[in-house]
Amino acid sequence: MTSRQQPPRTLTIAGSDSGGGAGIQADLKTFTALGTYGLSVITALTSQNTLGVDGVASVEPEFVAQQLRAVVGDIGVDAIKIGMLHNHKVIASVASTLTALFGPRGSPGYPPIVLDPVMFSTSSHVLLDPPSLPALQSQLLPLVQLMTPNIPEAQKLASVDAITDVQGMKAAAREIARLGCAAVLVKGGHLEGETVWDVLYERDGDGEGGEFTVFEHPRVHTKNTHGTGCTQSSAIAAFLAKGKPSVREAIQLATDYVQAALLASFDIGHGSGPLNHLV
Ligand code: PLP
Repeated sequence: MTSRQQPPRTLTIAGSDSGGGAGIQADLKTFTALGTYGLSVITALTSQNTLGVDGVASVEPEFVAQQLRAVVGDIGVDAIKIGMLHNHKVIASVASTLTALFGPRGSPGYPPIVLDPVMFSTSSHVLLDPPSLPALQSQLLPLVQLMTPNIPEAQKLASVDAITDVQGMKAAAREIARLGCAAVLVKGGHLEGETVWDVLYERDGDGEGGEFTVFEHPRVHTKNTHGTGCTQSSAIAAFLAKGKPSVREAIQLATDYVQAALLASFDIGHGSGPLNHLV
């Protein structure tokens, strides 16, 4: 028997959604749909469905680290997406284990890491306990290549009251990048209007210079948006694992994928249904 060529390996470090629409489940579906081999390190379990989250159970931080060492040590990774981390102990465990495995960001073999700073579900359930925010900012942010906050998350990370337009998104992206990640994508879906703007800021080394790219796409009207943020960040990681040379290109391709998956989303259960990954 001949074995087929190994696909790119994409890892998600995130929480489980029992309803299958967001979290680890959305990430693995995205990885497979985009032709990569998906690995998972589970940071928390949620009991949820299309109506919302009704419970969260934590995973021991040391067991999170153990999963990470197990998959990286044997299988290896070409890109990593990080989602729900739940609390500061898990954040510390993930940060120290990534550093032990790969060295500082920029070391040879260091994989691209995309961090979706999940804080609340759309149904307003807390997915990161608020006192853990400083740990996310100081310990994890410097390890990542790209951070993908939505507007409410960007407001918290940049400590600003209200972001209402593209100018505000640009200012927040630059502020968040100062905390140490290489690039920030502020997603504008929470603002009103038929056009959605996402703003990418890429830092120029350690200096104050840097480059903005504004992505523009039409709003897709559907109630079935559960897992959109998870899907976008895992799609970006999948395109980086497949060797897309620039974050900008990976974001454009991931956004096109999310748009198609939203257009094909379907009703299931009684609430906000999932995206359709078979597009
Ligand atoms: N559950 C988990 C485990 C998640 O990671 C997320 C989002 O990142 C959600 C739920 C919330 O998904 P949504 O806000 O799209 O409903």
